[in-house]
Parts: sequence; structure tokens; C-alpha cells
Amino acid sequence: MHLTLWRDLLQLLEGSLSREAIALWILPIKPLLVSREKLVLEVPNGLHERIVRERYLAVIRRCAQALTGAAMEVDFVRASDDGAPVAPPGRLAAPPARGRANAVALNPAYTFQGFVVGSCNRAAYHAAIAAANRPGKKHNPLFITGGVGLGKTHLLQAIGARAASDEEHTFVYTPSDLLMDELMEAVQGRTIARVRKRLSSVSILLVDDIHSLGGKNQVQEEFSSLFTAILEHGGQVVLSSDRPPKEIPRLHQRLVSRFESGTMLELKQPALATRLAILERKARRFGITLPRSVLMLLASEIRSNIRRMEGAVNRLAAQASIGGGIPGREAVDALLRDQLFGGDAQCVTTRGIQQRVASHFQIRLGTLLGPARSGRIAFPRQLAMYLCRRIVNSPYADIGAAFSGRDHTTVMHACKTIEDLLRGNGDARDTVDQLITALRS
Ligand code: ADP
Ligand code: MG
Repeated sequence: MHLTLWRDLLQLLEGSLSREAIALWILPIKPLLVSREKLVLEVPNGLHERIVRERYLAVIRRCAQALTGAAMEVDFVRASDDGAPVAPPGRLAAPPARGRANAVALNPAYTFQGFVVGSCNRAAYHAAIAAANRPGKKHNPLFITGGVGLGKTHLLQAIGARAASDEEHTFVYTPSDLLMDELMEAVQGRTIARVRKRLSSVSILLVDDIHSLGGKNQVQEEFSSLFTAILEHGGQVVLSSDRPPKEIPRLHQRLVSRFESGTMLELKQPALATRLAILERKARRFGITLPRSVLMLLASEIRSNIRRMEGAVNRLAAQASIGGGIPGREAVDALLRDQLFGGDAQCVTTRGIQQRVASHFQIRLGTLLGPARSGRIAFPRQLAMYLCRRIVNSPYADIGAAFSGRDHTTVMHACKTIEDLLRGNGDARDTVDQLITALRS
């Protein structure tokens, strides 16, 4: 059971509710089951349940969502009803589906159900579903292109999530640069035969951001043979890129033609109606209801990047959970004025931050995300997590997922460590200011 999650939730609730409310209604609750998707809470009696449901359920859900990034189901069990409470933990406690041998944990929000379909992305969405349901049969390789924040990673991970729930198929999801690091290290450490065998046996290989493959000659060779091996045994390859194969600089011609040999589909910018639907969906996910006028304002101001829309909704949800109300027009105006969201300020992504921090400290991205614990690596990693929280404002769990599936508690701890450090250390503050300026420019 995720008791740390419960503890963190209590901490957030303490920031949102009065002391009496906490003492009277929250502390008597006993968590029977705590997972990322579901809470089963034991309350003393029926009256207690009613009060908690009416007054506190919404804020419990909102705070849980701030921690895990996904909607939380909450069930109650009454302690005083016919003796012992009944909670069937075996059935409820099923762990979230995970891909085998993945370099990166999947974001639980990236599913087909959570993907809003419009004319900008319909073809890619259906091709992705086909690749997940019947790997290797149609669209092989499937090559998805699109600008930043238009849903490439979401679709690739949705394929992984579907494969994870399906006994028959195995898959690996990996960002391209991590895969290339792994192949490179395997070549140098002479373990390439083993790595090749493991990867080439999967039914679906999902490689995100393949545009970063350009220029890396030796890995291109390795990748090319891996690719061939998977296709030969009837497996599926799905790739994403911010541009078509031909435009990836210094990509071997052979790979260009392989990538072009299947189906290429582009994610385009969503039209107004789709933007509205996405905003509504995101607001629901964060547990807030936004008035139509606010949705319209956001949809007309933020056009080209869905991640920014999500960031805006996330911030409004955070404000609403502190202030207790639905954000009004002023809150939205202030948010849009903020330099991160205003005009065409470039969108800062988690991956952008990771890359920038890795290069600042002259370490490899794979090392930054990997298991190393030495101070030389741990500090940049904590700093990168802190910057993701501060600039992108993602939920702790999402940041953890982007750092090779680390737990949200690790991210909370990292943020706290860096905040403490910044209070007493001018040099560290300078480093952080420098990084933020570089990221925002
Ligand atoms: P990319 O990988 O293309 O940069 P992502 O897949 O990371 O973009 O998407 C950015 C954010 O926008 C994610 O949180 C994702 O869930 C969301 N998103 C993108 N497209 C859609 C969509 N059609 N419906 C719902 N959410 C979307
Ligand atoms: Mg992406």
C-alpha cells in the first residue's frame, strides 16, 4: 500500500482545510487501501461518511490528483456497520499495468480513452490503435510526426498501455536518446548481442523523438539492424519525430527509406472545437469545472501546444484548491499575462529541462535519468526535478515518471532539498537563475 501517498495527501489537505475540519473529519479516517488510482477509506459511521462526501470529497480528489496526476476513485467503508469493515484488497489492489523492460515508466494519463480526437489527429489515432491491437499487420513502421506538445508521446504511450493490458503482446517504449545511449553502452561493453536479442523479440517497439538519431553513425547501424530484426519476425515498430525522415539531418539514406516505407502521419494543430474539448477534458482530470468563458479565453489564446493548455488548467486548478473557488476571469488574465503562457513564449518541456541540465553539468542524459546516486549526478537530477516542478508545474508523479519511473516522494524530496539549498546559497541561486533564463529564451 502507498502509505507515503496518504501521508502526502494529508499534508496537502492540511494546507487547504481548517484545523477543526482536519481534526474532526479527516484524521478519524483510516486508509484501508491507497493506490495511485483508488482510495478505500474507513470512516467511523454513516454520518461521518455523508459529511466527508458532501464537504471534503472534492478537495480530497483534487489534492490526490495534484500528487498522482490522474483522477482518483474514492470509496468509503463504514466501521460501525455490522461489525468488521469489508474491503476486498486483493481485487482492488491490482498494480498498474507496466511494460516489461521499459527504460521509462508510462504516464498513466496517456491512454487512448484520454486522447481527444479531432480532424488534426484522427488518422494518427486510428493507426495507433491498429498498431496496438494487431501489431505488425498494417502501418509498419508507423511514423508519427508533429510539433512540440501535439500528442506524439501520448499516442506512443497509449499503444504501450494497451499492449501492457494484453497478455499476448510485449512492448518496449523508450525515448530515442535513451535507446541510443543504451545501444552505445552495449557496443562498448560488448553486451550488444544480449541487448539486441532482448529488444528484437518484442512485438511492439515504440521509439519516441527519433529525430535525435541524426548524426550518430554507429548507433544508426545498430538501430537499423534492430529495426530489420523486429520487422522480420512480424513485430511492429512505431516512431515519433518532430519532422519527416527526409528532414532529419545526417540520417542515413537507408534509414530514411525504411522510415518512409510504412505509414507516415502528421499531428496538426487542433482547431478551436478540439482545443475546447481538450481543455474540458483536462479540467475534468484536474477535478475543476471551468466556466465556458474561461475555456473560450484559454482556447483562443493557446493554440499551438496542448501541453501549454494543460499547464494553464493545472495552474488554475492549483489556485482553485488554495482559494477554494472556481477561478474567475482575473485569475485567467493574470495567468495569460505570465511570461510562460503569454504570447509565443517558447514552451519549456520536461525533456528540454533534462537536456539543458545534463549539458550544463556535462553529463549524459541517460546518466541523469539513470540509477546513479553519487552527488555529482544526484544534485543535477534533483535540480532538474525542481525546475520541472517550478517551470512546467507538472504533478509530482508525472515528473517522477519522466525520471525513469521514480516515485512522487522522490520528486517532493528533491524539490524541498533544492528549495532549502537556494535559501542559503547565492551560487546555487545564480545557477538556477541562469538555467531558467536559458530555458525561457
Ligand atoms: P509531444 O510528445 O508531441 O510533444 P505530448 O504527447 O507530450 O506531446 O502531449 C503534450 C500534452 O498534451 C500531454 O499531456 C498530452 O496528454 C496532451 N495531449 C496531446 N494531444 C492530446 C489530445 N488529442 N487529447 C488529450 N490530450 C492531449
Ligand atoms: Mg514527446
